[in-house]
Amino acid sequence: MSRNKQVEAAVVAVGEELLSGETTDTNGPWLGRKLAALGAPVVRRWIVGDDAEAIQAALSAALDVAELIIVTGGLGPTRDDLTRPAVADFLGLDLRSDPLIVDDLRERFRARGFPDLPTSNLSQAEVPHGARVLANALGSAPGLLMEHEGRSVALLPGVPREMRGIFEDVLGDVIRDRFEDRLVPLIHRTLYTTGIPESVLGERVDEVRAGLPEEVDLAFLPGLRGVSIRISIRSRADVAAKLLDEAQDVLDSVVAPHRIGMEKSDLVEAVADVLTSESYTLAVAESCTGGLITKRITDLPGSSAYFQGGVIAYADSVKIELLGIEEVTLVENGAVSEVVAAGMARGVADLLNADVGVGITGIAGPGGGTPEKPVGTVWYAVAVQGDVRTSHQVFSGDREAVRERASQATLLLLYQMLAAGP
Ligand code: AMP
Ligand code: MG
Repeated sequence: MSRNKQVEAAVVAVGEELLSGETTDTNGPWLGRKLAALGAPVVRRWIVGDDAEAIQAALSAALDVAELIIVTGGLGPTRDDLTRPAVADFLGLDLRSDPLIVDDLRERFRARGFPDLPTSNLSQAEVPHGARVLANALGSAPGLLMEHEGRSVALLPGVPREMRGIFEDVLGDVIRDRFEDRLVPLIHRTLYTTGIPESVLGERVDEVRAGLPEEVDLAFLPGLRGVSIRISIRSRADVAAKLLDEAQDVLDSVVAPHRIGMEKSDLVEAVADVLTSESYTLAVAESCTGGLITKRITDLPGSSAYFQGGVIAYADSVKIELLGIEEVTLVENGAVSEVVAAGMARGVADLLNADVGVGITGIAGPGGGTPEKPVGTVWYAVAVQGDVRTSHQVFSGDREAVRERASQATLLLLYQMLAAGP
């Protein structure tokens, strides 16, 4: 490992419960984010049970690939907590009882009403020879930091709160001091897009890729509400900001039309901004989304300023009686149709005295599809002061995906219509 090389880290999570699935490893991902931001990216991770041999095998492999190894879990006082002796044994370090830790443990127990320190807790005061003790303000097991053949090995408790506490309070600074300018932070910027498939977005980006600064990496992160483009760069903050701006300018030459209203990650915020600036009120009639659009709109604090209310018009009778759709319209066109979506948008705006109405009707599946209207077929409409626009799509995926995608497409139509102005 050369002296000038960027520091790389590895993480070993110890705990039988992490393997059996009773507990999800959250320490690994948390450390991944922290260490990437700090400039020592995690290059590999292991999850092992409470087993000395397994812990040592993982540590041995970790020492082969990284200069900084963080082991979490197994520092408790019970018999299944083996990390401390397993690591000390592997590194050839004797364990010695640290009187300061013993005193601290005794004090903790006294404060909790136990005059005597349970013998089993004495194991938590054992420190491998030469190790640095990392104070744990939130629990009884301190962290430990050892140096071994030019590499640093830190042991942290498994309890996420305590693990994070030690990292935030001491270990982060210790890593900064230890590796200094060999830390190269990973910095991201995310461009949120919606309404364009990942493959098409990828092709657009390929047209301009050659113009991107070569230091940046791109990742396409598809979700049900759209595809995010994550631009990342390893560099000091000032340099990074300039290169990220450059990259964003290049990408925006093709991506900007699909980022409409997506400066923020949620389209709902963009919709809210236009409704507020136009002083418009909004009402929503939902069939297949069952209230999802209404929920998303009202998730935003302050939505009472423009949101009047909604009708979940699931049954035909509700579409007829509350929203004023003609029975003959339903019979002739079916509930999933352009006229019904338009009628729902107009009807709910009338019913609730709103400037803007939204209507959505579709087949979320898994049943109910026909050859003409397969599962995923959704019609949606937006009425702005009586002026109606409609659209439809056949969304892919399971019931949840269809509903989520349909809600996003409807909000996009709403945003586009509002942003276009009267
Ligand atoms: P330990 O330090 O191994 O005694 O773990 C104490 C507690 O922290 C247990 O409830 C574990 O389930 C939990 N824990 C241990 N490791 C992890 C981890 N990697 N992610 C989330 N929780 C953990
Ligand atoms: Mg454990």
